[in-house]
Amino acid sequence: MARYIGPVCRLCRREQVKLFLKGDKCYTKCVFDNRPTTPGVAKPQRGKPSEFAIRLREKQKLRRFVLMTERPFERLYQRATKATGKTGEALLRYLECRLDNVVRRLGFSNSIKGARQLVAHGHVKVNDRWVDIPAYEVAPGDVVKLDPQLKENVNVKLSLDMTTRKSTRPSFFEFDEAALTGKMVRSPARDEISFPVTEQLIVEYYSK
Ligand code: SF4
Repeated sequence: MARYIGPVCRLCRREQVKLFLKGDKCYTKCVFDNRPTTPGVAKPQRGKPSEFAIRLREKQKLRRFVLMTERPFERLYQRATKATGKTGEALLRYLECRLDNVVRRLGFSNSIKGARQLVAHGHVKVNDRWVDIPAYEVAPGDVVKLDPQLKENVNVKLSLDMTTRKSTRPSFFEFDEAALTGKMVRSPARDEISFPVTEQLIVEYYSK
């Protein structure tokens, strides 16, 4: 599986938005807060960006929020075009319900990278079966459970505390902190999806 292995803070600087890819550091020692310049650009661009550039940046921003490479992202978009309802919302819902993102939103990890590692290393169960595929799609009724052996893990404890403190756990999950489980009770509504993007621009990018 291809993956991005470069510096993630550079992605935030490129998209000019905090993508929260580094967990705790994003709240304490954020590179983008201290250096909000676009990497590789000596002088700010003059004039307005083109229509194409605006749409491209929006697509890249979403793709980088979930740290996906272009091919699988585009495949997911093609799948969204065949779904009922709005294509942009369907794409966002697929991304929101990916197992790695669910693990992040439940607070087992405070970054998508950390969440993906928990899944890929076999620490997550869905409906009592171990699942190590980050792209696995969680559906309403599914119960996601973290390996109880990680209950005392420092990083897990820190991110659970932070998620509870910031109240960022979504309401479409019933969460049981003692059992380290989260049950998806329904599909997420548009305003409960965690990616701050304008999905219509992404649809327009792929419809060009
Ligand atoms: Fe982005 Fe986090 Fe790096 Fe800040 S610390 S630039 S939010 S990855």
